[in-house]
Amino acid sequence: MPPADSPDPAELFHGRRYHAYNDWVKREHGGRLQKVSIDAGFTCPNRDGKLGIGGCTFCNNDGFTPSYLREQRDIGRQIETGIAFMRRRYPQTQSFLAYFQSYSNTYGELARLQALYETALAHPDISGLVVGTRPDCLPDDILDYLATLSRHMPVELEIGIESCSDAVLRECLRGHDFACTQDAIRRAAQRGLFITGHLLLGLPLETKESLIAGARALARLPLDAMKFHQLQIIRGTRLANQYRADPASVPLLSPEAYIDAVIDVLEHLPANIKIQRLGSEVPPAQRVSPDWGIRLSRFPEMLEARLQARQTWQGRLCTDA
Ligand code: SF4
Repeated sequence: MPPADSPDPAELFHGRRYHAYNDWVKREHGGRLQKVSIDAGFTCPNRDGKLGIGGCTFCNNDGFTPSYLREQRDIGRQIETGIAFMRRRYPQTQSFLAYFQSYSNTYGELARLQALYETALAHPDISGLVVGTRPDCLPDDILDYLATLSRHMPVELEIGIESCSDAVLRECLRGHDFACTQDAIRRAAQRGLFITGHLLLGLPLETKESLIAGARALARLPLDAMKFHQLQIIRGTRLANQYRADPASVPLLSPEAYIDAVIDVLEHLPANIKIQRLGSEVPPAQRVSPDWGIRLSRFPEMLEARLQARQTWQGRLCTDA
């Protein structure tokens, strides 16, 4: 039970028990800010041979790439298709950000990156940039460039943390450690960039203890937002091979256990961190397991109900705010 002098979470988070990114965007930007996914043809050092060739054990980017991106390479046409889709789905959307999503979108020479980003920014309906990448692909010159852009438009940097445990990162053949992640986040924050961390819950070797220790470490970093994803086994990954050979070696979370894991992290995160995502949906044809049969749109209500049942909220156990 919360102590008697604890804050009222409903007041803290405008009626919720966690800090929802969409609520913040509405207040900050006066409406919905929609991200239009772009596949600019990047790879990553864990695939092109620099660090490895097979990728992280869980990764098959096709599982998260909208089909229209696989069918056309031209960035302008990807944006046109994406915006048309978003306008049909969210007619109230006022503003669009170009979301460089697939693979590591800062992995390349600065001049090449600039050309790709600026092609997207030249589209009249695009008002800013979201760039997803690995922490070991963020040299200072690229951060400096993104920081310069961010003085004139929204720029979000999305950094794949995945786990804060070096043992877990080693097990999934990530190719960098948590110290690398901490360093990248600090250097990006020094330049004033908006930083979202991406965490994958349920990876092999991750325990409740390591997850909470990781959440405490994240609480000490200058993060602006977080995304949570549940581990799903996707066809064509090393994890899928491992799972087929020995399912017991990849224990998968139930929806209830996943929501509890999200809460275990949330309780330790400062209240100012905005929560951008609570999970993901991989197309059934690409997913090996698990099949929860739950739409992503239900996750917020499931989380809210469980936060209520546990009488807790984001930041309740945070001592680093
Ligand atoms: S998850 Fe990211 S870093 Fe890992 S293999 Fe896939 S694209 Fe590369």
